[in-house]
Amino acid sequence: MRQATMVQPGRIQFRDDIEVPAPGDDEILLRVSHIGVCGSDIHVNHGKHPFTSYPVIQGHEFSAEIVAVGAKVDAEKFPIGTFATALPQVFCGECDPCRRGDFNICDALKVRGFQVPGVAQDYVTFPQDMVIPLPQTMSAEIGALIEPLAVAVHSVSRAGPLSGKNVLVTGAGTIGNLIAQVAQARGGNVLISDVSDYRLEKVRECGIAKVVNPKTSDIADVVEQVFGPSRFDVAFEVAGVESALDTTVQLVAKGGTIVAVAVYGDRPKIDMAVLGDREIVLKGTLMYKHEDYLGAIELIRQEKVRLSPLVSVRFPFDDYMQAYEYIDQNPDKTMKAMIVL
Ligand SMILES: [Zn+2]
Ligand SMILES: [Zn+2]
Repeated sequence: MRQATMVQPGRIQFRDDIEVPAPGDDEILLRVSHIGVCGSDIHVNHGKHPFTSYPVIQGHEFSAEIVAVGAKVDAEKFPIGTFATALPQVFCGECDPCRRGDFNICDALKVRGFQVPGVAQDYVTFPQDMVIPLPQTMSAEIGALIEPLAVAVHSVSRAGPLSGKNVLVTGAGTIGNLIAQVAQARGGNVLISDVSDYRLEKVRECGIAKVVNPKTSDIADVVEQVFGPSRFDVAFEVAGVESALDTTVQLVAKGGTIVAVAVYGDRPKIDMAVLGDREIVLKGTLMYKHEDYLGAIELIRQEKVRLSPLVSVRFPFDDYMQAYEYIDQNPDKTMKAMIVL
């Protein structure tokens, strides 16, 4: 089978003489179909991912066909020939977070495609506990978008119920876009900001009507126009820049919640006096759990989210590297690049 290994930043080595792995008793053998390329993968390609060393087999958001199951796998739940995706985390099961069910923040967390081999190969095995069957009606391409949608579902769950609440999302890349869609599906009144008109246009295509570009409008003014003087109850900070985080702290309503979704390269300064004085709640979020994958599938099934506008470009597996080159050359018109096996 084929396998793509990033041997150093910006260099992928292909092999086609790798043996297809055999599933263990508790494992499922998957034939990989689609792999999404995300921001973290791009950081690895640039040598800027702090927790990844080389060589590494990338790929963590994907869809695949079930081709074989181990002796102890529930064959009714995972019929051969149907499609599935899987959670990419590898966790210890014994630390405090794992024992209370929060394996997404396991003390020894490893993620496929970063610290352990990912799915950039024709076949891959996963423990059955991590495999999520896809509805028969779902396309393989949409199946590969469940992972980023699960990130959004988990982030939104961190904020508590959103029904009837005013919500600001700062940053309209793939994750910000999906958070806005999930927040709206959960009953939130959503405004989203981004400095790119292209990304704001994509958000509109996905059904979010209220957008603001802080380059051309004063965001504080727009927030008051849209939400009134009480502004917003919840903010999702997805831009990963100090000014966006500071905006959410300055403008969120008293007692409001800010979920910090972005990965910050630098340590942003925020006004802790304002945070204390207004009893603002600042929360983190990391990846997802099973319930978030199931929530993502349910949102797709109910047609409460639109995912197709997010796929900007597709490349065959053998052109994996060209996908990265395209992303680098077209940062302002690429949302999600998809690798098709
Ligand atoms: Zn990702
Ligand atoms: Zn653990």
